[in-house]
Amino acid sequence: MFGRAPKRSDNTKYYGILGVSKNASQDDLKKAYKKAAIKNHPDKGGDPEKFKELAQAYDVLSDPEKREIYDQYGEDALKEGMGGGGSSHNPFDIFESFFGGGNPFGVKKGSSSGGRRQRKGEDVVHPLKVSLEDLYKGTSKKLALSRNILCPKCKGKGSKTGASSTCAGCQGSGMKVTIRQFGPGMMQRLQSVCPDCRGSGETISEKDKCGQCKGKKVVQDKKVLEVHVEKGMLHGQKITFQGEADEAPDTITGDIVFVLQLKDHPMFKRKGDDLFVEHSLTLTEALCGFQFALTHLDGRQLLIKSAPGEIIKPGQFKSINDEGMPQYQRPFMKGRLYLHFSVEFPESGAISSDQCKALEAVLPMRFLKPLTDMELDECEETTLHDVNIDDEMRRRQQQKQEAYEEEEESSGPRVQCAQQ
Ligand SMILES: [Zn+2]
Ligand SMILES: [Zn+2]
Repeated sequence: MFGRAPKRSDNTKYYGILGVSKNASQDDLKKAYKKAAIKNHPDKGGDPEKFKELAQAYDVLSDPEKREIYDQYGEDALKEGMGGGGSSHNPFDIFESFFGGGNPFGVKKGSSSGGRRQRKGEDVVHPLKVSLEDLYKGTSKKLALSRNILCPKCKGKGSKTGASSTCAGCQGSGMKVTIRQFGPGMMQRLQSVCPDCRGSGETISEKDKCGQCKGKKVVQDKKVLEVHVEKGMLHGQKITFQGEADEAPDTITGDIVFVLQLKDHPMFKRKGDDLFVEHSLTLTEALCGFQFALTHLDGRQLLIKSAPGEIIKPGQFKSINDEGMPQYQRPFMKGRLYLHFSVEFPESGAISSDQCKALEAVLPMRFLKPLTDMELDECEETTLHDVNIDDEMRRRQQQKQEAYEEEEESSGPRVQCAQQ
């Protein structure tokens, strides 16, 4: 539609491969990938190249960080980011992690050792609310999380003896396939994780089951993590605890990731390393000088005052060096604190005509160029109305919209006239 600049790298291909729109949710991506990956799995006679492409696309789009890079800079940027190695994942690993380790087709993998390949467990992401004070001073927060760990009694085997047999429910595949007929010649294949073995493909005889985990191989555990929020950290910054997510047999444990969520502050706004404070002065303060104490994020009182004779205009900014936010990992370096002043004027009627004369003695004369009687005679009287500028703009926008719609309606007949 719009000619694309030739140098700009393509950042829509992966969406095309999965057949989803650019604003697809994680859920949409998951569903699209699941459908396509099963259809194109090489074990089911699918095209291995297509399968690889699907896994690659899903690997990138399902990771919010990679997706952002891809959306902005395209595929090449990701390859660079991975140290030139291209995709970091084996498409079969992605497929497996997606299906929770069960092999949906019951096909033995090519590895000759017979041992199971380890898959990577999922990372667990938690938002962590922090205040601006927390990010200014640094803090640590203790959080109790419950997670699965390998059963300490059976070491994750699930049985007392270590023996297990192939699950009868799924013949060891970990997945159950049911075929549903809905109309003549219309078949639907439904695939789900086997409920008997919960995807592991094996069962343990009732009396051999481990007493502690009841054969589940994992048990719930509570763990307290101490999260160190360092000075100057940013909203959205991640703090990772490697290998602290849920444990599972034959799995490399994923990470617990905390993502900082900055709460709004009633007084300070942060922009990068700088802080902004709104302060309102009375007209007298703006003209004759002011001073006040400002409580900083660490509780210190800053004395803020105007220089002798200084006049502050409405909307004016002032800044204080080194009273902004500390920089992450260089907390001795600080940004600036900006003060943005507004000026409150007295209400109408607050100043009498006598007081006006007194003001005129100090401020500029009211009529710099007084009009003569003759000039006044030639003038027309006007009335000044109060205006709410927001309402005014809205009204104008509406008028513009109406005028545009009218023009659209009337453009039809005009074309017809031209043809005759
Ligand atoms: Zn089963
Ligand atoms: Zn156990």
